[in-house]
Amino acid sequence: MTNHEETIVALATPAGIGAIGVIRLSGPDAIAIANKVFKGKDLTEQTSHTIHFGSIVDGDMLLDEVLVSLFVEPRSYTRENVVEISCHGSNYIIESIIKLLIKNGARSAKAGEFTLRAFLNGQLDLSQAEAVADLIASNSKASQQVALQQLRGGFSNQLQTLREQLVQFASLIELELDFAEEDVEFANRDQLKKLINDILRVITALIQSFELGNAIKNGINTVIAGRPNAGKSTLLNALLNEERAIVSHIPGTTRDTIEEVLNINGINFRLIDTAGIREATDAIEKIGVERTMEKISTSSLLVYVYDAERITLAELNADLENLQKPGVTMLIVANKSDLLTEEQILALPHTESAIIISAKEKQHIDELKNKIYHAAIKNELEGNDILVTNIRHLEALQKTEESLIRVLDGMETVTSDFLSMDIKQALHYLGEITGAVTTDDLLDNIFSKFCIGK
Ligand code: GDP
Repeated sequence: MTNHEETIVALATPAGIGAIGVIRLSGPDAIAIANKVFKGKDLTEQTSHTIHFGSIVDGDMLLDEVLVSLFVEPRSYTRENVVEISCHGSNYIIESIIKLLIKNGARSAKAGEFTLRAFLNGQLDLSQAEAVADLIASNSKASQQVALQQLRGGFSNQLQTLREQLVQFASLIELELDFAEEDVEFANRDQLKKLINDILRVITALIQSFELGNAIKNGINTVIAGRPNAGKSTLLNALLNEERAIVSHIPGTTRDTIEEVLNINGINFRLIDTAGIREATDAIEKIGVERTMEKISTSSLLVYVYDAERITLAELNADLENLQKPGVTMLIVANKSDLLTEEQILALPHTESAIIISAKEKQHIDELKNKIYHAAIKNELEGNDILVTNIRHLEALQKTEESLIRVLDGMETVTSDFLSMDIKQALHYLGEITGAVTTDDLLDNIFSKFCIGK
Protein backbone atom coordinates (compact mmCIF):
# COMPACT_ATOMS: atom_id res chain seq x y z
CA MET A 1 0.00 0.00 0.00
CA THR A 2 2.70 2.44 1.02
CA ASN A 3 6.39 1.77 1.19
CA HIS A 4 7.76 3.59 4.21
CA GLU A 5 11.26 3.63 2.74
CA GLU A 6 10.02 6.06 0.11
CA THR A 7 9.69 9.78 0.68
CA ILE A 8 6.45 11.17 -0.73
CA VAL A 9 5.62 14.66 -1.88
CA ALA A 10 2.43 16.54 -2.74
CA LEU A 11 0.83 19.95 -2.64
CA ALA A 12 -1.09 20.22 0.65
CA THR A 13 -3.04 23.36 -0.21
CA PRO A 14 -5.69 23.52 -2.97
CA ALA A 15 -4.47 23.64 -6.55
CA GLY A 16 -4.86 27.06 -8.15
CA ILE A 17 -3.43 30.48 -7.59
CA GLY A 18 -3.12 31.69 -3.99
CA ALA A 19 -0.85 33.86 -1.88
CA ILE A 20 1.07 30.80 -0.79
CA GLY A 21 1.12 27.11 -1.57
CA VAL A 22 2.36 24.49 0.88
CA ILE A 23 4.25 21.49 -0.47
CA ARG A 24 4.62 18.61 1.94
CA LEU A 25 7.30 15.93 2.02
CA SER A 26 7.14 12.90 4.31
CA GLY A 27 9.52 9.97 4.69
CA PRO A 28 13.00 9.09 5.90
CA ASP A 29 14.73 11.33 3.33
CA ALA A 30 12.35 14.28 3.51
CA ILE A 31 14.87 16.60 5.17
CA ALA A 32 17.82 15.40 3.08
CA ILE A 33 15.89 15.84 -0.18
CA ALA A 34 14.67 19.32 0.79
CA ASN A 35 18.21 20.21 1.78
CA LYS A 36 19.54 19.32 -1.69
CA VAL A 37 17.41 22.03 -3.32
CA PHE A 38 17.40 24.58 -0.48
CA LYS A 39 19.85 27.48 -0.37
CA GLY A 40 20.14 28.73 3.18
CA LYS A 41 20.99 26.93 6.41
CA ASP A 42 21.88 23.24 6.34
CA LEU A 43 18.45 21.75 7.07
CA THR A 44 19.88 18.41 8.18
CA GLU A 45 21.45 20.15 11.17
CA GLN A 46 18.37 21.99 12.41
CA THR A 47 16.10 20.93 15.26
CA SER A 48 12.47 19.85 14.93
CA HIS A 49 9.67 22.43 14.82
CA THR A 50 11.79 25.22 13.36
CA ILE A 51 11.16 27.42 10.32
CA HIS A 52 13.86 28.56 7.91
CA PHE A 53 13.92 31.21 5.24
CA GLY A 54 15.85 30.57 2.06
CA SER A 55 15.45 29.83 -1.62
CA ILE A 56 14.73 26.81 -3.74
CA VAL A 57 17.25 26.40 -6.53
CA ASP A 58 17.49 24.06 -9.48
CA GLY A 59 21.23 24.11 -10.15
CA ASP A 60 21.93 27.80 -10.81
CA MET A 61 18.31 28.69 -11.40
CA LEU A 62 16.38 30.34 -8.57
CA LEU A 63 12.81 29.00 -8.41
CA ASP A 64 11.37 30.84 -5.41
CA GLU A 65 12.02 32.29 -1.99
CA VAL A 66 10.38 30.06 0.58
CA LEU A 67 9.87 29.20 4.24
CA VAL A 68 10.68 25.64 5.21
CA SER A 69 9.13 24.07 8.32
CA LEU A 70 10.85 21.03 9.77
CA PHE A 71 9.26 18.22 11.75
CA VAL A 72 11.73 15.56 12.80
CA GLU A 73 10.36 12.04 13.31
CA PRO A 74 8.40 11.02 15.31
CA ARG A 75 7.08 14.51 16.14
CA SER A 76 5.05 14.99 12.98
CA TYR A 77 1.63 14.23 11.50
CA THR A 78 2.88 11.02 9.88
CA ARG A 79 5.46 10.27 12.62
CA GLU A 80 8.06 10.39 9.83
CA ASN A 81 10.41 13.23 8.91
CA VAL A 82 8.16 15.91 7.44
CA VAL A 83 9.12 19.09 5.61
CA GLU A 84 6.60 21.71 4.59
CA ILE A 85 7.73 24.20 2.01
CA SER A 86 5.65 27.38 1.88
CA CYS A 87 6.24 28.90 -1.53
CA HIS A 88 4.41 31.53 -3.56
CA GLY A 89 1.11 30.15 -4.80
CA SER A 90 1.74 30.08 -8.53
CA ASN A 91 0.94 26.87 -10.37
CA TYR A 92 4.21 27.15 -12.26
CA ILE A 93 6.32 27.55 -9.12
CA ILE A 94 4.51 24.75 -7.28
CA GLU A 95 4.84 22.34 -10.19
CA SER A 96 8.50 23.21 -10.70
CA ILE A 97 9.35 22.66 -7.03
CA ILE A 98 7.46 19.33 -6.88
CA LYS A 99 9.23 18.16 -10.07
CA LEU A 100 12.57 19.19 -8.62
CA LEU A 101 11.89 17.27 -5.39
CA ILE A 102 10.93 14.20 -7.42
CA LYS A 103 14.14 14.53 -9.44
CA ASN A 104 15.99 14.51 -6.13
CA GLY A 105 14.46 11.29 -4.83
CA ALA A 106 10.88 11.89 -3.67
CA ARG A 107 7.86 10.38 -5.37
CA SER A 108 4.32 11.72 -5.84
CA ALA A 109 2.04 10.86 -2.93
CA LYS A 110 -1.10 8.86 -3.63
CA ALA A 111 -4.52 10.04 -2.48
CA GLY A 112 -4.67 10.01 1.32
CA GLU A 113 -1.15 8.63 1.65
CA PHE A 114 -0.01 11.10 4.33
CA THR A 115 -2.96 10.18 6.52
CA LEU A 116 -2.54 6.48 5.69
CA ARG A 117 1.03 6.71 6.98
CA ALA A 118 -0.17 8.54 10.09
CA PHE A 119 -2.55 5.62 10.69
CA LEU A 120 -0.04 2.87 9.93
CA ASN A 121 2.51 4.53 12.22
CA GLY A 122 0.00 4.65 15.05
CA GLN A 123 -0.54 8.41 15.11
CA LEU A 124 -4.27 8.08 14.45
CA ASP A 125 -6.72 5.21 14.60
CA LEU A 126 -8.91 4.49 11.63
CA SER A 127 -11.96 6.42 12.76
CA GLN A 128 -9.72 9.40 13.55
CA ALA A 129 -8.19 9.22 10.09
CA GLU A 130 -11.69 9.28 8.65
CA ALA A 131 -12.48 12.25 10.88
CA VAL A 132 -9.64 14.14 9.19
CA ALA A 133 -11.48 13.73 5.88
CA ASP A 134 -14.75 14.79 7.50
CA LEU A 135 -13.13 17.81 9.12
CA ILE A 136 -11.72 18.93 5.79
CA ALA A 137 -15.13 18.46 4.19
CA SER A 138 -17.11 20.06 7.03
CA ASN A 139 -19.22 22.98 5.90
CA SER A 140 -21.16 23.93 8.99
CA LYS A 141 -20.44 24.50 12.67
CA ALA A 142 -22.20 21.30 13.69
CA SER A 143 -20.43 19.07 11.14
CA GLN A 144 -17.09 20.59 12.13
CA GLN A 145 -17.82 19.93 15.83
CA VAL A 146 -18.78 16.30 15.22
CA ALA A 147 -15.67 15.65 13.10
CA LEU A 148 -13.48 17.34 15.67
CA GLN A 149 -14.98 15.22 18.43
CA GLN A 150 -14.22 12.08 16.43
CA LEU A 151 -10.72 13.29 15.64
CA ARG A 152 -10.06 13.69 19.35
CA GLY A 153 -10.92 10.01 19.56
CA GLY A 154 -14.10 10.30 21.63
CA PHE A 155 -15.93 7.57 19.87
CA SER A 156 -13.09 5.11 19.30
CA ASN A 157 -11.76 5.47 22.86
CA GLN A 158 -15.09 4.31 24.17
CA LEU A 159 -15.19 1.33 21.83
CA GLN A 160 -11.58 0.44 22.48
CA THR A 161 -12.17 0.12 26.23
CA LEU A 162 -15.18 -2.11 25.68
CA ARG A 163 -13.31 -4.17 23.15
CA GLU A 164 -10.46 -4.77 25.60
CA GLN A 165 -12.88 -6.04 28.23
CA LEU A 166 -14.42 -8.39 25.72
CA VAL A 167 -10.99 -9.63 24.63
CA GLN A 168 -10.37 -10.72 28.23
CA PHE A 169 -13.53 -12.80 28.25
CA ALA A 170 -12.69 -14.26 24.86
CA SER A 171 -9.35 -15.46 26.20
CA LEU A 172 -10.96 -16.97 29.30
CA ILE A 173 -13.37 -18.87 27.11
CA GLU A 174 -10.50 -20.00 24.89
CA LEU A 175 -8.91 -21.34 28.05
CA GLU A 176 -12.05 -23.35 28.77
CA LEU A 177 -11.65 -24.96 25.35
CA ASP A 178 -8.18 -26.14 26.36
CA PHE A 179 -9.67 -27.84 29.39
CA ALA A 180 -12.71 -29.15 27.56
CA GLU A 181 -12.70 -32.58 29.23
CA GLU A 182 -12.71 -31.15 32.70
CA ASP A 183 -15.91 -29.13 32.30
CA VAL A 184 -14.64 -25.98 34.00
CA GLU A 185 -15.87 -22.40 33.59
CA PHE A 186 -13.18 -19.74 33.76
CA ALA A 187 -15.36 -17.05 32.33
CA ASN A 188 -18.05 -16.13 34.80
CA ARG A 189 -21.26 -16.25 32.73
CA ASP A 190 -23.06 -13.64 34.81
CA GLN A 191 -20.22 -11.18 34.42
CA LEU A 192 -20.00 -11.91 30.71
CA LYS A 193 -23.73 -11.34 30.36
CA LYS A 194 -23.45 -8.03 32.19
CA LEU A 195 -20.53 -6.89 30.04
CA ILE A 196 -22.34 -7.79 26.84
CA ASN A 197 -25.42 -5.93 27.96
CA ASP A 198 -23.26 -2.92 28.80
CA ILE A 199 -21.63 -3.04 25.37
CA LEU A 200 -25.00 -3.48 23.68
CA ARG A 201 -26.33 -0.37 25.42
CA VAL A 202 -23.44 1.74 24.12
CA ILE A 203 -23.67 0.24 20.66
CA THR A 204 -27.41 0.73 20.39
CA ALA A 205 -27.04 4.38 21.40
CA LEU A 206 -24.31 4.84 18.79
CA ILE A 207 -26.46 3.19 16.12
CA GLN A 208 -29.34 5.47 17.03
CA SER A 209 -27.09 8.52 16.88
CA PHE A 210 -26.42 7.87 13.20
CA GLU A 211 -29.62 9.48 12.00
CA LEU A 212 -28.67 12.78 13.62
CA GLY A 213 -24.94 12.37 12.95
CA ASN A 214 -25.56 11.76 9.28
CA ALA A 215 -27.97 14.68 9.10
CA ILE A 216 -25.36 16.95 10.62
CA LYS A 217 -22.63 15.73 8.33
CA ASN A 218 -24.59 15.75 5.10
CA GLY A 219 -27.35 18.24 5.82
CA ILE A 220 -31.02 17.52 6.36
CA ASN A 221 -33.07 16.96 3.25
CA THR A 222 -36.06 19.23 3.49
CA VAL A 223 -38.76 19.38 0.84
CA ILE A 224 -40.94 22.44 0.34
CA ALA A 225 -44.16 21.23 -1.30
CA GLY A 226 -47.63 22.56 -1.90
CA ARG A 227 -50.07 23.39 -4.67
CA PRO A 228 -49.06 25.71 -7.50
CA ASN A 229 -49.14 29.37 -6.41
CA ALA A 230 -49.14 28.51 -2.71
CA GLY A 231 -45.98 30.62 -2.40
CA LYS A 232 -43.26 27.94 -2.23
CA SER A 233 -40.74 29.87 -4.29
CA THR A 234 -41.49 33.10 -2.42
CA LEU A 235 -40.98 31.23 0.85
CA LEU A 236 -37.72 29.73 -0.36
CA ASN A 237 -36.50 33.23 -1.18
CA ALA A 238 -37.64 34.56 2.18
CA LEU A 239 -35.82 31.75 3.97
CA LEU A 240 -32.67 32.27 1.98
CA ASN A 241 -33.11 36.02 1.98
CA GLU A 242 -32.43 36.35 -1.73
CA GLU A 243 -34.08 36.11 -5.12
CA ARG A 244 -33.10 32.68 -6.35
CA ALA A 245 -36.14 30.65 -7.25
CA ILE A 246 -38.33 32.03 -10.01
CA VAL A 247 -41.53 33.54 -8.65
CA SER A 248 -44.43 33.94 -11.02
CA HIS A 249 -48.19 34.22 -11.24
CA ILE A 250 -48.55 31.31 -13.61
CA PRO A 251 -49.37 28.15 -11.64
CA GLY A 252 -46.76 25.44 -12.06
CA THR A 253 -43.75 27.57 -13.03
CA THR A 254 -41.39 25.77 -10.69
CA ARG A 255 -41.13 22.90 -13.10
CA ASP A 256 -38.06 21.17 -11.83
CA THR A 257 -36.64 21.01 -8.35
CA ILE A 258 -34.30 23.66 -7.00
CA GLU A 259 -31.87 22.86 -4.20
CA GLU A 260 -30.48 25.43 -1.81
CA VAL A 261 -28.72 25.14 1.52
CA LEU A 262 -30.14 26.97 4.52
CA ASN A 263 -28.05 27.05 7.67
CA ILE A 264 -30.01 27.25 10.92
CA ASN A 265 -28.00 27.29 14.17
CA GLY A 266 -25.09 25.54 12.50
CA ILE A 267 -27.12 22.78 10.86
CA ASN A 268 -27.41 22.65 7.07
CA PHE A 269 -30.88 22.10 5.67
CA ARG A 270 -30.91 21.17 2.02
CA LEU A 271 -34.07 22.84 0.82
CA ILE A 272 -35.77 21.35 -2.18
CA ASP A 273 -38.44 23.46 -3.83
CA THR A 274 -40.60 21.20 -5.94
CA ALA A 275 -43.18 21.46 -8.66
CA GLY A 276 -46.67 22.03 -7.31
CA ILE A 277 -48.91 19.16 -6.36
CA ARG A 278 -52.07 19.05 -8.43
CA GLU A 279 -53.65 16.92 -11.10
CA ALA A 280 -50.84 17.14 -13.60
CA THR A 281 -52.01 18.15 -17.04
CA ASP A 282 -48.95 18.05 -19.22
CA ALA A 283 -46.10 15.58 -19.36
CA ILE A 284 -43.41 17.80 -17.84
CA GLU A 285 -45.69 18.79 -14.99
CA LYS A 286 -46.51 15.14 -14.33
CA ILE A 287 -42.83 14.25 -14.02
CA GLY A 288 -42.48 17.16 -11.60
CA VAL A 289 -45.29 15.86 -9.40
CA GLU A 290 -43.87 12.36 -9.40
CA ARG A 291 -40.51 13.78 -8.48
CA THR A 292 -42.07 15.71 -5.60
CA MET A 293 -43.50 12.51 -4.16
CA GLU A 294 -40.17 10.77 -4.62
CA LYS A 295 -38.27 13.64 -2.99
CA ILE A 296 -40.61 13.65 -0.03
CA SER A 297 -40.12 9.98 0.67
CA THR A 298 -36.32 10.36 0.70
CA SER A 299 -36.37 13.45 2.93
CA SER A 300 -36.51 13.85 6.69
CA LEU A 301 -38.59 16.97 6.71
CA LEU A 302 -41.51 18.24 4.66
CA VAL A 303 -42.54 21.88 4.75
CA TYR A 304 -46.04 21.84 3.30
CA VAL A 305 -47.16 25.31 2.17
CA TYR A 306 -50.73 26.27 1.33
CA ASP A 307 -52.44 29.44 0.20
CA ALA A 308 -54.52 30.17 3.30
CA GLU A 309 -56.75 32.57 1.38
CA ARG A 310 -57.68 30.21 -1.43
CA ILE A 311 -57.50 26.61 -0.30
CA THR A 312 -60.69 24.77 0.73
CA LEU A 313 -60.79 22.57 3.80
CA ALA A 314 -61.38 19.51 1.59
CA GLU A 315 -58.28 20.31 -0.50
CA LEU A 316 -56.20 20.91 2.61
CA ASN A 317 -57.25 17.63 4.19
CA ALA A 318 -56.62 15.76 0.93
CA ASP A 319 -53.09 17.23 0.67
CA LEU A 320 -52.25 16.42 4.28
CA GLU A 321 -53.40 12.85 3.80
CA ASN A 322 -51.54 12.37 0.50
CA LEU A 323 -48.29 13.84 1.71
CA GLN A 324 -48.01 12.09 5.04
CA LYS A 325 -45.12 9.63 4.71
CA PRO A 326 -43.76 7.43 7.45
CA GLY A 327 -40.51 8.78 8.89
CA VAL A 328 -40.99 12.24 7.38
CA THR A 329 -41.82 15.05 9.81
CA MET A 330 -44.33 17.48 8.35
CA LEU A 331 -44.66 21.18 9.12
CA ILE A 332 -47.90 22.77 7.93
CA VAL A 333 -47.39 26.33 6.77
CA ALA A 334 -50.40 28.59 6.12
CA ASN A 335 -49.12 31.27 3.76
CA LYS A 336 -50.41 34.70 2.69
CA SER A 337 -51.60 35.70 6.16
CA ASP A 338 -51.33 39.31 4.98
CA LEU A 339 -54.45 38.72 2.88
CA LEU A 340 -56.51 37.31 5.78
CA THR A 341 -58.72 38.94 8.38
CA GLU A 342 -58.16 38.25 12.05
CA GLU A 343 -61.15 35.91 12.16
CA GLN A 344 -59.84 33.96 9.19
CA ILE A 345 -56.47 33.60 10.91
CA LEU A 346 -58.12 32.37 14.10
CA ALA A 347 -60.02 29.75 12.11
CA LEU A 348 -56.78 28.20 10.76
CA PRO A 349 -55.35 25.09 12.44
CA HIS A 350 -53.16 25.99 15.44
CA THR A 351 -51.33 22.76 16.22
CA GLU A 352 -47.73 22.19 17.29
CA SER A 353 -46.67 21.48 13.70
CA ALA A 354 -48.66 24.36 12.17
CA ILE A 355 -47.50 27.90 11.56
CA ILE A 356 -49.02 30.94 9.90
CA ILE A 357 -46.77 33.20 7.84
CA SER A 358 -46.59 35.67 5.03
CA ALA A 359 -43.75 34.74 2.73
CA LYS A 360 -44.15 37.90 0.71
CA GLU A 361 -44.16 40.24 3.72
CA LYS A 362 -41.52 38.10 5.49
CA GLN A 363 -43.67 37.68 8.58
CA HIS A 364 -42.92 34.87 11.06
CA ILE A 365 -40.04 33.56 8.92
CA ASP A 366 -37.70 33.32 11.93
CA GLU A 367 -40.38 31.44 13.84
CA LEU A 368 -40.64 29.02 10.93
CA LYS A 369 -36.85 28.56 10.91
CA ASN A 370 -37.04 27.76 14.59
CA LYS A 371 -39.71 25.16 13.97
CA ILE A 372 -37.71 23.64 11.10
CA TYR A 373 -34.67 23.37 13.37
CA HIS A 374 -36.55 21.76 16.23
CA ALA A 375 -38.42 19.37 13.96
CA ALA A 376 -35.05 17.98 12.86
CA ILE A 377 -33.01 18.30 16.05
CA LYS A 378 -35.20 16.96 18.80
CA ASN A 379 -32.49 16.81 21.43
CA GLU A 380 -30.20 19.79 21.70
CA LEU A 381 -26.63 18.94 20.77
CA GLU A 382 -24.24 18.79 23.68
CA GLY A 383 -20.62 19.72 23.07
CA ASN A 384 -19.39 16.26 24.03
CA ASP A 385 -22.10 14.14 22.40
CA ILE A 386 -20.70 11.22 20.49
CA LEU A 387 -22.38 10.80 17.15
CA VAL A 388 -21.80 8.22 14.43
CA THR A 389 -21.61 9.94 11.06
CA ASN A 390 -19.99 7.31 8.94
CA ILE A 391 -21.91 4.58 7.13
CA ARG A 392 -18.97 2.17 7.45
CA HIS A 393 -19.07 2.58 11.23
CA LEU A 394 -22.82 2.14 11.27
CA GLU A 395 -22.58 -1.15 9.40
CA ALA A 396 -19.82 -2.43 11.66
CA LEU A 397 -21.84 -1.44 14.73
CA GLN A 398 -24.92 -3.22 13.40
CA LYS A 399 -22.90 -6.37 12.75
CA THR A 400 -21.36 -6.14 16.23
CA GLU A 401 -24.84 -5.82 17.69
CA GLU A 402 -26.03 -8.91 15.80
CA SER A 403 -23.13 -11.04 16.98
CA LEU A 404 -23.48 -9.86 20.58
CA ILE A 405 -27.16 -10.73 20.56
CA ARG A 406 -26.17 -14.18 19.28
CA VAL A 407 -23.73 -14.49 22.19
CA LEU A 408 -26.48 -13.60 24.66
CA ASP A 409 -29.00 -15.96 23.07
CA GLY A 410 -26.52 -18.80 22.97
CA MET A 411 -25.08 -18.34 26.41
CA GLU A 412 -27.35 -20.87 28.12
CA THR A 413 -27.47 -23.39 25.32
CA VAL A 414 -24.39 -23.46 23.10
CA THR A 415 -20.98 -24.87 23.95
CA SER A 416 -17.94 -22.73 24.69
CA ASP A 417 -16.55 -23.14 21.18
CA PHE A 418 -19.63 -21.59 19.55
CA LEU A 419 -19.71 -18.87 22.17
CA SER A 420 -16.08 -18.14 21.48
CA MET A 421 -16.78 -17.88 17.74
CA ASP A 422 -19.57 -15.35 18.20
CA ILE A 423 -17.48 -13.26 20.56
CA LYS A 424 -14.61 -13.31 18.07
CA GLN A 425 -16.95 -12.09 15.38
CA ALA A 426 -18.14 -9.22 17.56
CA LEU A 427 -14.49 -8.34 18.30
CA HIS A 428 -13.73 -8.41 14.61
CA TYR A 429 -16.46 -5.90 13.73
CA LEU A 430 -15.61 -3.65 16.66
CA GLY A 431 -11.99 -3.74 15.57
CA GLU A 432 -12.94 -2.74 12.03
CA ILE A 433 -14.17 0.59 13.34
CA THR A 434 -11.03 1.59 15.18
CA GLY A 435 -8.67 -0.15 12.79
CA ALA A 436 -7.55 -2.83 15.26
CA VAL A 437 -8.65 -5.19 12.46
CA THR A 438 -7.85 -4.05 8.93
CA THR A 439 -7.50 -5.44 5.47
CA ASP A 440 -5.80 -3.83 2.48
CA ASP A 441 -9.16 -3.55 0.73
CA LEU A 442 -10.67 -1.69 3.64
CA LEU A 443 -7.74 0.75 3.82
CA ASP A 444 -7.73 1.23 0.07
CA ASN A 445 -11.39 1.98 0.15
CA ILE A 446 -11.06 4.58 2.89
CA PHE A 447 -7.91 6.38 1.82
CA SER A 448 -8.57 6.47 -1.91
CA LYS A 449 -11.46 8.83 -1.13
CA PHE A 450 -9.03 11.39 0.30
CA CYS A 451 -7.46 13.99 -1.95
CA ILE A 452 -3.81 13.87 -2.87
CA GLY A 453 -1.82 15.85 -0.31
CA LYS A 454 -4.01 14.85 2.64
P1 GDP B 1 -45.31 28.65 -5.98
O1 GDP B 1 -45.97 28.28 -7.26
O2 GDP B 1 -45.89 27.87 -4.83
O3 GDP B 1 -43.83 28.60 -6.00
O4 GDP B 1 -45.76 30.15 -5.67
P2 GDP B 1 -44.94 31.51 -5.87
O5 GDP B 1 -43.93 31.68 -4.83
O6 GDP B 1 -44.52 31.60 -7.30
O7 GDP B 1 -46.07 32.55 -5.56
C1 GDP B 1 -47.26 32.63 -6.31
C2 GDP B 1 -47.86 34.01 -6.17
O8 GDP B 1 -48.26 34.24 -4.81
C3 GDP B 1 -46.87 35.12 -6.49
O9 GDP B 1 -47.57 36.15 -7.15
C4 GDP B 1 -46.41 35.61 -5.13
O10 GDP B 1 -46.03 36.97 -5.14
C5 GDP B 1 -47.67 35.41 -4.30
N1 GDP B 1 -47.37 35.24 -2.89
C6 GDP B 1 -46.50 34.36 -2.34
N2 GDP B 1 -46.49 34.48 -0.99
C7 GDP B 1 -47.35 35.47 -0.68
C8 GDP B 1 -47.78 36.06 0.56
O11 GDP B 1 -47.33 35.74 1.66
N3 GDP B 1 -48.73 37.04 0.47
C9 GDP B 1 -49.24 37.47 -0.73
N4 GDP B 1 -50.13 38.43 -0.70
N5 GDP B 1 -48.86 36.92 -1.88
C10 GDP B 1 -47.94 35.94 -1.88
